[in-house]
Amino acid sequence: MTEIKRIAVLTSGGDAAGMNPCIRSVVRTAMAHGIDTYGVEYGYQGLIDNNIAHLNSRAVSGIINRGGTILYTARCKEFAESKGREKAYKNLRKHKVDALVVIGGDGSYTGAEEFYREMRFPVICIPGTIDNDIAGTEYTIGYDTAVNVAVEAIDKIRDTATSHGRLFVVEVMGRHAGYIALEVGIAAGAEEIIMPEVPADLDAIVDTIESGRARGKRSSIIVVAEGSQFGGGEEVAKMIEGKTGYTIRYTILGHMQRGGSPTCRERLMASRFGYEAVMGLLTKRYGTAVGIMKGEITYTPLADAIKKLPRIRAADLAMLKALSK
Ligand code: ADP
Repeated sequence: MTEIKRIAVLTSGGDAAGMNPCIRSVVRTAMAHGIDTYGVEYGYQGLIDNNIAHLNSRAVSGIINRGGTILYTARCKEFAESKGREKAYKNLRKHKVDALVVIGGDGSYTGAEEFYREMRFPVICIPGTIDNDIAGTEYTIGYDTAVNVAVEAIDKIRDTATSHGRLFVVEVMGRHAGYIALEVGIAAGAEEIIMPEVPADLDAIVDTIESGRARGKRSSIIVVAEGSQFGGGEEVAKMIEGKTGYTIRYTILGHMQRGGSPTCRERLMASRFGYEAVMGLLTKRYGTAVGIMKGEITYTPLADAIKKLPRIRAADLAMLKALSK
């Protein structure tokens, strides 16, 4: 391929706040470089169904502050097979698209990597997942909004917990990654945090709660990642109830963490990633994912970006112990 004149952009997998400002950035950066952008609806499914249409500057007006994704998203089994990817390739060529920008999580990266390798079609990915668990980048779009929504919700729960002298268990998202639980728990002043990566001892947790009460603590909040070793918030609440005899309330924050107007940091990072993805295509960094490490933009080969990365800092766990006293 000599020159890129037309690109396509799609959002795939779990939605995340910040996808809209990112789409806007891709479209407008491309336009500033004389490149036309096509939007694909419903992720890879839209590539297979030929759900592809031109996006002009006005199509992305007024979306910088909107959660979700104007291109919609989907999970698509067909794209995991060669036949599906061939259909996708043909539809892109029909529209004379030269390169593809994929905004999504590690599942979407895996699909993009296979597509790039098999079809030799220029692809670049942008990390879009609330979990912040992608290798090669310290930030993924959706994370900052998700943690801010969760902290705000827990602050409200803390008010009622303190008023009634109650113990609350709050479940946050994170099936495989406890990073949201850890950072939200620290920021919301949680007494305990239970996450998949760190084995927890319920008896020790109960001891901490009891000794806190003995010292006059009015309320306790335990933050649990949905994929913890004990299960989610409901399971943890029942187990502690069984051990202590206290009535324990639990709240599952669930999908509200995905929505909401993107935070300032979110919009900034989404704009940067969108811009750098287009610049990456112009400099032929095909088959990579944009990211940021120590303040510098990075382009990580997709095969490396797919690898899971442990992000829990031991120092944060020690700090939590000190701060929750
Ligand atoms: P996320 O991108 O948020 O991790 P998913 O894991 O649901 O979300 O992946 C999104 C889409 O990426 C899937 O619906 C599928 O089309 C594609 N995908 C996921 N895994 C693979 C795979 N192993 N091979 C090819 N495509 C895949």
